[in-house]
Amino acid sequence: MISLLEFRHELHKHPELSGREKMTARRIREILEGTMPDLLVSGVGGHGVVAVFDSGNPGPVVLFRADMDALPIGEKADFPHASVNPGVSHKCGHDGHTAILAGFAEYVSECRPKRGKLILVFQPAEETGRGAKAMLEHRAMKSLKPNYSFALHNLPGYPEDSVVVRTGTFAAASKGMVIRLKGKTSHASEPEKGKSPASVMAGLMVDLPRLSGNGNTGDYDDYVLLTLIHGNLGTPAFGTSPGDAVLMVTLRAYLDADMEKLSAGATALVKSRSEAAGLTYDIDFQEEFPASVNHPEAVELITRTCEKLDLSLVEAVLPFRWSEDFAHFTAISRAALFGLGAGENHPALHNPDYDFPDRLLERGVQIWKSLYHQLLDG
Ligand SMILES: [Zn+2]
Ligand SMILES: [Zn+2]
Repeated sequence: MISLLEFRHELHKHPELSGREKMTARRIREILEGTMPDLLVSGVGGHGVVAVFDSGNPGPVVLFRADMDALPIGEKADFPHASVNPGVSHKCGHDGHTAILAGFAEYVSECRPKRGKLILVFQPAEETGRGAKAMLEHRAMKSLKPNYSFALHNLPGYPEDSVVVRTGTFAAASKGMVIRLKGKTSHASEPEKGKSPASVMAGLMVDLPRLSGNGNTGDYDDYVLLTLIHGNLGTPAFGTSPGDAVLMVTLRAYLDADMEKLSAGATALVKSRSEAAGLTYDIDFQEEFPASVNHPEAVELITRTCEKLDLSLVEAVLPFRWSEDFAHFTAISRAALFGLGAGENHPALHNPDYDFPDRLLERGVQIWKSLYHQLLDG
């Protein structure tokens, strides 16, 4: 048996960035081999690992997912399990999520499903929004059609041991938009001989965020947000009037349909402003996350779990503005993404001071056990 605490600390000490979770996946596989699943597949959508426990009897197909990638954030900590990889650390608690699911896998090896099928998914590249999609496109996952899918994420800002859930959108859709404007450089003494994208860029910096607020909300069915992220104009040379500009913005929406409208609106604005100024432009969308939409039946199962374990249930009034690529699982099954409170004063996710609270490890395993028994225990 693994020690949840030791395994969590081991993962924390050796974090790997999205898409590079090679050693993490190897360790997960080693542990899963000891649990004697009916099927164990590695290299699913990158470094994803999938274990299937099949009762051989009819019943639901149930999927539990843990994410396993770390972030490009340096860790300045003096605890013994501090990251040894410079500039990389587990600041979203995926080390904790993985340890919890691995601990639960060991429980399942002793207490196998009596009906249906259990799929345990260890997913890479959550932070870049690539992992879930890549896993679902892999042939190993295509044959496994889950009826129910669940994922937990620790949530600082909520009381420890509370469970945070919501029917409908839990986490927003988001995507990055890279806008490249192209004009023509000229000598700075003769700007009229070139075509500077400066004024179009400045106009877009003012007007793109306005697409998501101040009277325009009537165009959408729910909340949308457009945030300026980065801008670059020309080069830092006093002798040259710029010919190129780059602008990066992030788009968010609670509904996928609104995301389409916001993307179309932003694209149309870039097109009309560029064309009017005689510039060419190029748009690239990256890190696309659909909205994570929770199914009422899956939320009901979480609610019952909270009753059984005597945990306080917090129903989120609004969806969270951040995104989660578990959204791809919510699109193919009755699914719920839910939060496990990490403490009201715990440092926020992606904050350099954050570390997964070890007190949640056992609690997480208990939640998986309860959902498991409700769905697959016969
Ligand atoms: Zn994160
Ligand atoms: Zn995360």
